[in-house]
Amino acid sequence: NKQVALKNYVTGFPKESDLQIITTDTIRLRVPEGTKDAVLVKNLYLSCDPYMRERMSASDGGFPPFELGKPLTGYGVAKILDSTHPNYKKGDLAWGFTGWEEYSLIVSPQILFKIEHTDVPLSYYTGILGMPGMTAYAGFYEICTPKKGEYVYISAASGAVGQIVGQFAKLSGCYVVGSAGSKEKVDLLKNTFGFDEAFNYKEEPDLTAALKRCFPEGIDIYFENVGGKMLDAVLANMRIRGRIAACGMISQYNLEKREGVHDLTHIVFKEIRMQGFLAATYYHLYPKFLEMALPYLKQGKIVYVEDIAEGLDSGPSSLLSIFTGKNVGKKLVVVAPE
Ligand code: NDP
Repeated sequence: NKQVALKNYVTGFPKESDLQIITTDTIRLRVPEGTKDAVLVKNLYLSCDPYMRERMSASDGGFPPFELGKPLTGYGVAKILDSTHPNYKKGDLAWGFTGWEEYSLIVSPQILFKIEHTDVPLSYYTGILGMPGMTAYAGFYEICTPKKGEYVYISAASGAVGQIVGQFAKLSGCYVVGSAGSKEKVDLLKNTFGFDEAFNYKEEPDLTAALKRCFPEGIDIYFENVGGKMLDAVLANMRIRGRIAACGMISQYNLEKREGVHDLTHIVFKEIRMQGFLAATYYHLYPKFLEMALPYLKQGKIVYVEDIAEGLDSGPSSLLSIFTGKNVGKKLVVVAPE
């Protein structure tokens, strides 16, 4: 059973050598005798997610650290090979929390959803039809409470979550601007996802000025994926009673000393509402989300771009690629053919 494991805890920017590939001699294909509420799965796709960096640190910053030498855990799509769980039977497909390995035993799964719709790419359940989709849905509709005609800004906009938020915002009749870290991604935002405007933040020495140029009348909604200097620039450009969904702050995850925000007075004087959230808190809305997202996908009203790597051996480099922006779209690893 091939596995991807953390070799040592990380401070600063993670390196591929902080992770290792382990191959165990034995492969378990059945739930052990007497183990209740368990499934034995064959992992098909694994999701590379920024929060996993938090788990590579020794300290528990909200997410518990990974166990050294044990397979990483994270979101994936899997096939059930054996089950003692009343909701799953052999042959079922599911997405949720699994291990970074070929086969996983999942006992009393906390986050596992049976996949009922297979007329879409199965890999989408690591992205638009899985956790990133729920993140976009909860963050945009529940936290940002959008109204038609509002001005929406999304950072890290071409990624797993951002590309969905942008398309939701367009479907809601908003004016949408995104930023990303390369020309290729900026083109994707404008030409594939239908953003009204986009810019490469790496080529903008003055982010406040860049946002002023894109939003002469200010920003109503900011979908925050990046933090740091970007948040400072956004706060200066927010409109009265604007909303900020604090989804993530990827610019901070690898810093040994995290940056502060320079001027929070904008929140007071402009009556801005800023709220952090975690997708998992909203999983009770998953059926409602699917009802909306599946038709959009099937009718081509939403497109989804993935960046797919082959094989568990590519796990370490794939996971790290999201912290340098090498990924173009949702980064995932194929473990086994469907
Ligand atoms: P992405 O697919 O967007 O990949 C991460 C991207 O972030 C990179 O491609 C890169 O794009 C950008 N990035 C990396 N480092 C930096 C940096 N130092 N400064 C600015 N941008 C950087 O990931 P996701 O869509 O999965 O995640 C986006 C955000 O949403 C993250 O902050 C993540 O933590 C958060 N998140 C939160 C969830 C929640 O429940 N609250 C759930 C899922 C995600 P670029 O080329 O544009 O720089």
